[in-house]
Amino acid sequence: MEKKTVVFVGGDKRQIYAAEALLGKCAEIYLVGFEKAENIHKLHKTTLSHIADKGDIYIFPVSGVKGRKVPAEYSYEELKLSDEDLSKLKHKTIFCGKADTLQSLSGELRIFDYLSREDFAVANALPTAEGAVQIAMENYEGTIFGLTCLVMGYGRIGKILSKMLKSLNAKVTVSARRKDHLRYIETDGNTPVLTEKILYPEQYDIIFNTIPKMLIDSKMLLKLNKNALIIDLASAPGGVDFSVASTLGIRTIRALSLPGRCSPKSAGDIISKTILDIYKEEYGVKS
Ligand code: NAP
Repeated sequence: MEKKTVVFVGGDKRQIYAAEALLGKCAEIYLVGFEKAENIHKLHKTTLSHIADKGDIYIFPVSGVKGRKVPAEYSYEELKLSDEDLSKLKHKTIFCGKADTLQSLSGELRIFDYLSREDFAVANALPTAEGAVQIAMENYEGTIFGLTCLVMGYGRIGKILSKMLKSLNAKVTVSARRKDHLRYIETDGNTPVLTEKILYPEQYDIIFNTIPKMLIDSKMLLKLNKNALIIDLASAPGGVDFSVASTLGIRTIRALSLPGRCSPKSAGDIISKTILDIYKEEYGVKS
C-alpha cells in the first residue's frame, strides 16, 4: 500500500485510529466527514467531491452506509453519496462493513467487506468482552468478585468473556448447545450448562447474552431474580424479550457496538490490520 492514497469516508473515532495506524504504510491519508475531529495533524481533512477521483483506496465505516447516507459522527453536515461520487469510485478499491447496501448503489463498485471476515470477528471479540465487563462494572452495584453470573453462548465472545469473568473471581456458568463445548467450559474452570436446560436461573446476578436468538423470553424472565441485570450483546434484534423484562421490572442493557464505544483505539487497529491483510491477499505484498 506504500504508494497508495487512502481516503477514509465517514465513520467514528475508530476510523481515526485506523487511519493513524496506517500512517507510514501508505503515501497519503485523507479523511472525509471529519471536520469536527481535533488533533489529527498528520491526516488531511477534505471533501468527497474533491477527493473522489484522486484516491486509490476508499474506506467506509464498519456499519456500512444507510442508503446513500454515510454515517459520519464528526461531520457538520449529512454525508451523502451523489451519482457523480459513485461514478468516480467505480475503478477504486473500496473497503466497507455491511457492504451490501453500498454495492446495491452501484454494481460496478469493487468492494471488500472487512466486517464479514472471520479474523475481524475473532479480533473484535476481545474488546467486546472487555466492554461487557466495563458495562457490568458501571451498572451493577456490587463487585465482579464473587458475582454469580451466566454467560449464554460459548462462541467467540462467550469464550473470552467467560474466562475474563473467571479471572476476576466471579462464579461463572456458561451455556452451550454442543457437548464438546461443555467439556471446554469445564476445563476453563467454569460451570457448563446446556443452553436449552438452564437450571435455577434465579441464582444469577448478571446474565450476559451472546446468542443471537430470543431465548431470554417470558418463560425464562419469569424465573429470574428481579434484581438481576441482563446485558445483551447479541446483534439486533437481540436475545431478550425487552418488553416483558420491562413489565417485570428487570433491568436490561442492550450493549451494542462495544469495541467502538469502549476501545476505539483497539477497534481502529483491528480495522487497519484487517484491511492491510485483505489488501496483501488481493494485490500481493509489494503493490
Ligand atoms: P459466535 O461465535 O457465532 O457465537 C454465538 C454463540 O451463540 C455460539 O455459542 C452459538 O452456538 C450460539 N448460538 C447461535 N444460535 C443459537 C441458537 N439458535 N441456539 C443456541 N445457541 C445458539 O458469535 P460471536 O462473535 O460470539 O458474537 C455473538 C453475538 O454478538 C452476535 O450476534 C454478534 O453479531 C454480536 N456482536 C456484538 C458485539 C457488541 O458490541 N455487542 C460485537 C461483536 C459481535 P454454536 O457454537 O453451537 O453455533
